[in-house]
Amino acid sequence: MSESKEFKADSLEKVRQAVNVCTMCGFCKSVCPSFKSIGWDSALSRGRIVLTYGLLTGDLQPDESLVRNMYTCTTCADCVRRCPSKVEIVDIIELCRADLVKAGCILPKHKLMCDNIMSTGNPFGEKATREEALGRKPHAAKVGYFAGCTATYRSKETARATMSIFDKLGVDFTTLDETCCGSVMQRVGWPQGDVTELMRKNVEAIKALGVETLVLSCAGCYRMFKLEYPKYVDVPFEVLHITEFLARQDLKLKPMDGVKATYHDPCHLGRHCGVYEPPREVIAKIPGLEFKEMKYNRKTSHCCGGGGGVRSAYPEEAMDIASTRLDEAGSADLMITCCPFCVNNLSAAKGDRKIEVRDLVELIDELM
Ligand code: SF4
Ligand code: SF4
Repeated sequence: MSESKEFKADSLEKVRQAVNVCTMCGFCKSVCPSFKSIGWDSALSRGRIVLTYGLLTGDLQPDESLVRNMYTCTTCADCVRRCPSKVEIVDIIELCRADLVKAGCILPKHKLMCDNIMSTGNPFGEKATREEALGRKPHAAKVGYFAGCTATYRSKETARATMSIFDKLGVDFTTLDETCCGSVMQRVGWPQGDVTELMRKNVEAIKALGVETLVLSCAGCYRMFKLEYPKYVDVPFEVLHITEFLARQDLKLKPMDGVKATYHDPCHLGRHCGVYEPPREVIAKIPGLEFKEMKYNRKTSHCCGGGGGVRSAYPEEAMDIASTRLDEAGSADLMITCCPFCVNNLSAAKGDRKIEVRDLVELIDELM
């Protein structure tokens, strides 16, 4: 942790009411992936609410253990779905994180990522421009592709495949003079003023090219443009996840005869944004694929463990959660998903399992 300043529950004041409606019923215990990995009540929604309440009343001051409990939440929102009292636990945790950051209680990995975003526009501190990294020059077009930092600088195959699909479909699309969408910063509690500035920059860059439809291949960036941007800035264009775009297309695909596949719903695309059917509609266009849902799918899908800043700060917990999810795929040869974070985290936890984890866009590009 960085050096602590005085803790003030400024953001948490907004959720005093919500904190008081938790009845401690414990229904959230049956779903919370961080609790399943860590095993302590303090690493589950109910326990986190107790800690938050202690901060609100001043009976608790942030220490290393409290910070750890607040940052081991993947923000998967499965507890929100399960909670009979409708406690908005993810909002509470993110507001608590905002107060912790203001008090100087930010984890070093998160601080580095946020400082990098402030200085280079991406969490990795990469100096290459988007144009250099993606190999395309932005131009005026009705369709804009927001690749996101991970697909631009790390999971480059996802960005390459998405652009290749547009080319094969004959879509005149443009890449963008992007900066980070702000998801990492918002998830870890960085000051909203800086996040809103990124939002403004991105919207201005998109508007300047005359984009009418923005397409995204990252579930985290999509959630930002779909749900978070409209709270702070005007978004004067349609926002589509690539699977929503592809579900509308007449795709002629090569067969994948006899391959047993399943689909993992990214939390930010599914539970947060309600996009469950478009990826399944695209998968259904693949001839010969033997598709079977996992027991926990759509609203009840389990987290991959990679979100909410957990992968960077607590990689062991992230691997543990990912292993559970991979085991839930049973005898499938292929786990399809559509978020570079999920692909990275699940692939990293694969070990000697035979299952392959693929981003849907990469698969579709290969089959076109
Ligand atoms: S399910 Fe909701 S009301 Fe019950 S303990 Fe968890 S957060 Fe509290
Ligand atoms: S959002 Fe997910 S990880 Fe966080 S408390 Fe809720 S169920 Fe647990």
